[in-house]
Amino acid sequence: MTTRIEKDIYVARSDMPEMEAYFSLVAELWESRAITNAGKLHEQLEQELQQYLKTPDFLLFANGHLALNVALRALDLKGEVITTPFTFLSTTNAIMENGLTPVFCDIRSDTYNIDETKIEALINENTCAILPVHVYGTPCSCTQIEKIAAKFGLPVIYDAAHAFGVEVDGKGIASFGDISMFSFHATKVFHTVEGGGLAFHNESLQRKLISLKNFGLTDPIQADYIGMNAKMSEFHAAMGLLNLQTIDKNLDARKSITERYRHNLSGLPSLKLSLEPTAGVKSNYAYFPVLIEPRAGISRDGLFDYLEKHRIHSRKYFYPLISDLRSYKELGFDSSNTPIAKVIAEKVLALPIYASLEHGMVDIISEHIIEYMVK
Ligand SMILES: *Cc1c(COP(=O)(O)O)cnc(C)c1O
Repeated sequence: MTTRIEKDIYVARSDMPEMEAYFSLVAELWESRAITNAGKLHEQLEQELQQYLKTPDFLLFANGHLALNVALRALDLKGEVITTPFTFLSTTNAIMENGLTPVFCDIRSDTYNIDETKIEALINENTCAILPVHVYGTPCSCTQIEKIAAKFGLPVIYDAAHAFGVEVDGKGIASFGDISMFSFHATKVFHTVEGGGLAFHNESLQRKLISLKNFGLTDPIQADYIGMNAKMSEFHAAMGLLNLQTIDKNLDARKSITERYRHNLSGLPSLKLSLEPTAGVKSNYAYFPVLIEPRAGISRDGLFDYLEKHRIHSRKYFYPLISDLRSYKELGFDSSNTPIAKVIAEKVLALPIYASLEHGMVDIISEHIIEYMVK
């Protein structure tokens, strides 16, 4: 018999600062009335994040999606962008919105990231960039990707929406590639309610990126680009400044939840845990995905439904593949070109994980999974 759950458990739960701390930080805005357009809190958060992420240049955006869109726009690309179908649709939509064509590369069955050994075969004279995603915060094979990019003279833009705070050999994850996009959406490891950022290390991009997120304006009465509005407000920056104060504590909590799940669920038949971080990688424990191998009476969808019935809300993440979404299928994209991604998408389930998830609840969630899986 499993323990009864009295309230719904969601896959993610946003960390929030003390209400009083937030109110006292935003109180000054009623005096200054400088509530957006690179205000004081915005500037402070930008600086603190630049340091935390160990990146030379960092800019804040209204959300991660607009940040990615602007990053692609700033590079003046034309043609095909090699990317992964195992991602959130923001990645590919940003490519499409820029008039570019996504070319889907299959993924690795161990990290679920783009398979770097399959990139080169997809490169042709129309290829203009590579856009890998650090799925679940696990770093891509950045060194190999960089080699391919250098060989063909292609820029690399990372979707690092999942990878806040991840480091490789003491270097911030954004030290790889030309530009990395972070998302600070409420469901992410670090959030500003809605928000995002771009990290880069080519100072010449800075002026253009700043302009592109403010309608293309380059001074008060002149515009050099056709830009959009992707600015972060002071109210969002305030949330970020306070959340940044507790980020290390929250990452520790996520680590111990991950260890607890691993302890509870390792060795279960038909259930595969994801790889442990490799040597040199500082993980952010953003997600806890498992793969369900179907067998008689057992399936990913079956486990999902069983957990739902018991008020545990997991997430089929990422499912379906981008190339299987109606909006992409209609355009002729075909998921059979990426068979490994297709299989992973059908087996994967992301379990609840957030800093305030109590160990007792991790045990109860595990109990339910065991009850379903061991028949
Ligand atoms: C969250 C997410 C985004 C988009 O970020 P927003 O801040 O929600 O716009 C892009 N890519 C991936 C992989 C994401 O998980």
